[in-house]
Amino acid sequence: MSMVKETYQAYLRDHTAQIVEDLRTLVAQPSVSAENIGMSECANLVAQMLSRAGVTPRLIPTAGYPVVFGELKSPGAMRTILVYGHYDVQPPEPLDEWRVPPYSGHIEDGRLYGRGCADDKGQFFTQIKAVEVLNHTVGKCPVNLKFIFEGEEEIGSPNLVPFVTKNRPMLAADGFFRADGNKHESGRPLIKLGQKGMLYLELSRVSGTRDLHSSRSPVSTNPVWRLTQALHSLYDPKLWRILVDGFYDKVLETTAKDHDFISAIPFRRNDIEADMGTPLRSDLRGGADYYEAFLLNPHLTICGFHAGYGGVGVKTIVPRAAAAKVDIRLAPKQDPDEIAVLVRSHLDRHGFGDVQLKVLAKIRPARTPSADPYVGRVIESLRSVYGEEPVVYPSSEGSGPAYIFRELLSLPYVIVPCAQFDCRMHAPNENIELSGMMKGIELFIDVMYRESQVSETVPGKSVE
Ligand SMILES: [Zn+2]
Repeated sequence: MSMVKETYQAYLRDHTAQIVEDLRTLVAQPSVSAENIGMSECANLVAQMLSRAGVTPRLIPTAGYPVVFGELKSPGAMRTILVYGHYDVQPPEPLDEWRVPPYSGHIEDGRLYGRGCADDKGQFFTQIKAVEVLNHTVGKCPVNLKFIFEGEEEIGSPNLVPFVTKNRPMLAADGFFRADGNKHESGRPLIKLGQKGMLYLELSRVSGTRDLHSSRSPVSTNPVWRLTQALHSLYDPKLWRILVDGFYDKVLETTAKDHDFISAIPFRRNDIEADMGTPLRSDLRGGADYYEAFLLNPHLTICGFHAGYGGVGVKTIVPRAAAAKVDIRLAPKQDPDEIAVLVRSHLDRHGFGDVQLKVLAKIRPARTPSADPYVGRVIESLRSVYGEEPVVYPSSEGSGPAYIFRELLSLPYVIVPCAQFDCRMHAPNENIELSGMMKGIELFIDVMYRESQVSETVPGKSVE
């Protein structure tokens, strides 16, 4: 292994300029899924990059943008890793806030600038390059590989479930790898083992056909009072607790290992508060409390509330309608459909049968157990390549397609970012440190070698 390591490290040193140039080419190709700009050109470009790396690519049509699928069968390899990434990017607007044009691939102070360079082009690119580097040095990869690059992540992956469901046998693997997001704010490498689920609801109450003069308020029902009372019945903001009966029944317990991981995450209250611009909850005593709430616990919040008159001065009315957007984040094993039913029956039981409930979006939660052997191996790779202890998030603060890979394909889902904390994803001046990108290539090579050393007789499949 050390001979192999020296060989590919030397190759990486000698070919940095070419690798960076290839990333610039990828970033220079717009691929805005929301506006259908450059999508097929980018899919073709990714397929070409796979092909040049030695992977057989295929563009597989979906009801939306195609999936770029790639497969590499390595002679003698016993293990298979499935790589997921997305070639679509966010719209670059507002353009006047960019210091350089968003598709210029401008390089400054060791960083490459451009829309999509961190989210997600400069990250999935490192898995393609890892294969290319090994094919050009040792002549083959130690594992089999499958690649799914979708073009719809930034618009909510509407065709990923049908795609995965239809192609389950084709996507079978032992390990899973996704490079996305950013490293921990402390600068340490990060691995995330899952994602929260989400149930996004609209609650509304309508009275009559028009706003009434407020002189009628003593003799009519105000929908704003009704809706605020209904919202109060769902959640206790003093205890930070959801009051819907049965809500917590299926929440997966935090294991001792999860607790060890979150207790070890660097916690700087002042930095976090400065970043948020608002104090943290006063009852959070330290890092373990903070990260348990932030990463693991379900929660309910009001994202918006609309009712009546909010303009300048006075308008005396009883509003006709009130509506609230409610975001409920879910922990494994909560099912968004079941939770929606619980909320409805809770409202009915508490006398709010007049409050309408609409499900606007739902995503299932998923988490790879932190004791999973594949997780242990990727953590070893991070230690070995970065030379420092990685931060482990047993789940992540956000929601996404984890459940598709974890539940539909039973894979040990991990996200391992190579972009730095201030990469400005979704914002003007998105950028990626080139040294981080190059480390991403090395990391994935290490992950492949470590995986190849797993004996087939050792259970390597993830466990529940
Ligand atoms: Zn994104």
